[in-house]
Amino acid sequence: MSTVKRQSKIRMVLVNTTHPGNIGGAARAIKNMGLTELYLVQPREYPAPRAVWRAAGARDILTNVKVVESLDEAIAGCGLVIGTSARERRIPWPLINPRECGEKIWGEAARHNVALLFGREDRGLTNAELQKCHYHVHIPSNPDYSSLNLATAVQVLAYEVRMASLQDENGVLPSMDEWDQPLATADELELFHHHLAETMAMLNFYDPDNPKQLLTRMRRLFNRTRMDKMEVSMLRGLLTAAGRTKETL
Ligand code: SAH
Repeated sequence: MSTVKRQSKIRMVLVNTTHPGNIGGAARAIKNMGLTELYLVQPREYPAPRAVWRAAGARDILTNVKVVESLDEAIAGCGLVIGTSARERRIPWPLINPRECGEKIWGEAARHNVALLFGREDRGLTNAELQKCHYHVHIPSNPDYSSLNLATAVQVLAYEVRMASLQDENGVLPSMDEWDQPLATADELELFHHHLAETMAMLNFYDPDNPKQLLTRMRRLFNRTRMDKMEVSMLRGLLTAAGRTKETL
């Protein structure tokens, strides 16, 4: 697959960005690193002259930017979703470093769309947003002052994708193992999790004192396994059968 095609499968997704300057800065950062796809989920102020100004020679990235209404829309069709996090979260999730993140993104973009999510300037990504991710990535910054400027964080992680692509050209990265089925995409996983939650409720499987934790842990379990399309459809068949049995009891 040509390099150009692979880049078109890598989405850099900015969620609810407040400052248009950061949008321009992110556009410049990704173009500098040879990437092209910028998604904005409900930006506070966009289009904006300050974004254009900060983008400098990367205005074409802004021209092609996809502004969407929801995160689900931005990650639909993605077989790999990675969320950035400036700090430790309560429930640990599979955590990778920026180098591994660059390698995974570049490696997997050969086969499916991938998305890297960036959070709000003031409070990052919500737990619900982070729970949609297969992996979290943290830039190992100073623990006493760990939060980078949004566009700067985009720069660091886009650079790692660039490095992985250059290594790949030199034949250093092993090519990904071929799997017999395509991986399930974010929208298919979302439907699966809704189906699972619904069926668990129907079977009275919820711990009424702590229902949220169960759903979070189920998401983490299934995100860790990287299910393919056939596995998702098998499990959905099982859920449907379980629901039907309950109805006939
Ligand atoms: N106070 C917020 C910081 C948000 S910084 C919080 O605690 O979450 C804005 C965004 O920049 C983050 O959502 C993330 O996308 C990115 N970012 C900043 N510092 C980062 C770091 N050290 N590692 C990974 N992403 C980081």
